[in-house]
Order: sequence, then C-alpha cells, then structure tokens
Amino acid sequence: MNKCIQSLDLLLELKDPQVIYMLLRYCLGSNRLIYRLRTTHPDHIGTAAKLFDEALLRIHTAVLVENGPGFGDFQFELTSLPISNGGLGIHRLKDLKLFTFLASFSSSFDLSKRMFPSISADKSALLQPQLDEFMRRIHPSVTVDRNELLGTPQRLLAQSFFSSQKVILREHPYLSNADANIKSAQSYILDACASTPVSRRPVIVLSPTASASTAPVPLTSQWLSAFPNEGLGQKLSSLEFRAAIYLRLLIPFRNNQFPSRQCTAKGCTASYSNDRFGYHTLSCGGKGNRRTARHDTIMDALFQLLSTTGFHPVRNAPVFCLGLNGASQRPADILIYDHTGAPTCIDGTCCSPLSEAKANSASSSTLGLLCQTACQQKVHKHEEDCRRAGYSFLPFSCDVSGFSTHTASALLDRIASSYAARNDTPFGCALNLIRRKISLAIQRGVARQLIHWFHPRTEAWGDL
Ligand SMILES: [Zn+2]
Repeated sequence: MNKCIQSLDLLLELKDPQVIYMLLRYCLGSNRLIYRLRTTHPDHIGTAAKLFDEALLRIHTAVLVENGPGFGDFQFELTSLPISNGGLGIHRLKDLKLFTFLASFSSSFDLSKRMFPSISADKSALLQPQLDEFMRRIHPSVTVDRNELLGTPQRLLAQSFFSSQKVILREHPYLSNADANIKSAQSYILDACASTPVSRRPVIVLSPTASASTAPVPLTSQWLSAFPNEGLGQKLSSLEFRAAIYLRLLIPFRNNQFPSRQCTAKGCTASYSNDRFGYHTLSCGGKGNRRTARHDTIMDALFQLLSTTGFHPVRNAPVFCLGLNGASQRPADILIYDHTGAPTCIDGTCCSPLSEAKANSASSSTLGLLCQTACQQKVHKHEEDCRRAGYSFLPFSCDVSGFSTHTASALLDRIASSYAARNDTPFGCALNLIRRKISLAIQRGVARQLIHWFHPRTEAWGDL
C-alpha cells in the first residue's frame, strides 16, 4: 500500500493534468489494489485505505485548484463515481472495500466449504457486518434486495452502490444551496455527463440522414478516454484540461468576492459576478464572445476526420444556398461528396442550454433538446434552398455539454463505416475512435472559450 501511495505522490511531478488523470484512472489508482481489497477483510484495511484516499485528495486539489479552495467534499464524491455515472472513474478505497470483499468471499465460500467440510459457519452470518454496512450506504430510493446480495457479482454490487451514490450526491448541500439558475445548469451538466450512448450497427446505406434512431446522442464523456498524444491531435493543454474538468465537476472559476465586472462581449449587459461557473460565458449572445472560435474548433476536428476517411471535404466551401453572412455569401462549414459524387453542405452549430434565460425551461431539463431544436431550425431554413441548388443539407448540432443530434451521430456513423473499411477495423472500434475525437473537440472548443475569459488573469485562475 505504501508503494501505491508513493506512486500517487510521484504523479505530481508530471505537471500534465491530462496524463496524470489517465494514469490515475488506468494504472496507479485503486485498480492496483482491487485484488488486495477482494482478499483482505475490510476491518484490516481501514487505516491504509484512509491514507490512500487522502493521497487521492492531495492529487485532486494540487492538480485542479493548486491547493486552493474550490475542490470540496462534493467534487471528491463526484470524481469517485464511474464515468458512466458522471464521475471521473477514480474510485476511493473507502467505497470499494464495501463490496469487493463481500463479493469475493461470498462467491468463493461454497467452494471453500466443499474443500474443507469442517467449516460449519454460515455465509450470511459471517458477512453480516459487511451486509449491514453496504445496506446502510444505499439510498432508500435505490432498490436493493439484501437477501440477494450474497449471490451478486462484484460488478453488479458496484453498479448498485454507485447508482445510490449518484442519488445521494444530488441531495448534497453544494447543489441544494445553489441559486436556482445555477442549480438548473448544474443539473443539466450532471445528467448529461451521466449519459452513455447506445451502440450502433454499421451504416450500410450512405444516405446523409441514415440513422437507426432519432434520439440525441451523448458525446459528453468519451474525451476522458482519449490518449493524450500530440500527433493524434488528442493533447489538451493543462488549462484546457482543467477548464473542461471544472465544467464537469461544477468547480467555480471565481470566488464570490471577485469584483463585479461587466461582460465585455458587444451588446451584452451581463455582469461577471454572476458567472462564477462560466455558464454565461458559454451562452453569451454578445459579439466577440468567441462562440465562433468554439464552433470552428469542432468543425476543424470534423474536417480532419472526413479528410482521412475519403469524403474529400472542403472547409468553408463557397456555396450560394446558405444565404448571406453580412455582405458576402455564407460558406458551407464543410462540403463533402458521397459515393455517387453528390455534394452535401454540412452546417455546424454548438449551442448552450446553461444560460439564465433557459434556466428551468424545457431546454435545461431535457437533454439534447436545444441542439435538436437548433438542428430542426437549420433544416427548415436551409434544406430547401440547398436542394434547389443541387446540394444535400446536413446540420451538425451539439451543445456545450457534448450532446449531439441523431443527424450528427449518423454522420459519425458514416465516417466510422468508412474508417473501418479503409483500415480493416471492427466498426465498433472505429465508432468509438470517431466519437472520442469529436467529444474531445467539443470539450476543447468549450474549454478554450472559458480560458479566454478566465485566464491568464491570476485573480481568476487558481485563486478561487
Ligand atoms: Zn455576455
């Protein structure tokens, strides 16, 4: 255990948050200790587990908030949830020891009894304290049958436990004491980050709108699994990574005492004192708010993917069917050609359901609704004009959390199909790769916008 804790402390010498968190999740965190946890009675691991969890907390606070305030009990709980529950998948031993030994001892007890018939004790009597402790940590609204726990595999016990933790976290004072508008935005982020996409089958028909589903598709968490490699375009700067994590873990960028300042985007009258979390920054409709840069970051990533998968894309293609942009014709964000040579205009948008104006509305309570609406509006506005000009029209809509529409997802399916065929790769692997890259691009675009407003002014970063 001491070796593991020393390894954790050594991580801080790397100075690269994206690499540190990748190592923490896959190599140096609690996964090194799972076997020990499964085979050691929880009563004998309490002190060591506490030291390990303290080391984890040291890393989080040092890497994310430079040992300042901002990373509290709520954030520590959230990081310990699996990624599929909206966390970072960096588990604490105090949680894991609740069910690892229980599952292991329970599943091997019958075999032990057959090998050693002299064992007369009853399994449920031996595990009574562990069962009591597990049940004590389960939220009343989460259905868990105590009588079935002894036959349940560790994976399912973990699912029950972390589902319950998610519910408990939603009742945390950090959320319940927040202003109503902030709470609305934060609920959206938590729900979005806890959504997982359905798996897809390969798209056979290369139609622009081919899709098995019309539901919005979450690309909210795949970026966390992107290997931080500069050559693959998957490296986030320290600031980008931290900004994206701040948004996911609901860490404020500014403290309450920070002097009020007017939003400098032209035409906007909002005050910075209301924007500790960056939700206004991401939603601001004023000029110069860098939403265009956010949009371009995502479109550039999509263009790269289309270029390497045989779609012969043209970026900012001169077309005459998307109306005027000021005095000049508005270009297509990307123009692609399908296997018959027919051109398709791709028009991207990245919207934000986190604004005060949308707080507690359908847009902030229904995941993906806003980008779905934006997508429909674009179709209504441009599809007919494009058709008349001989082009197909394909909107690529997502929101700042990473939710995208089924139309955008269908395009990613097509790219994945082409990637799989060209690289002799299973479709599922190709789709994961494509989704991961777009998920990362959305986070990069959003993070860069946040950094522009909150950094490098030292009073705004690391001085919460
Ligand atoms: Zn503004």
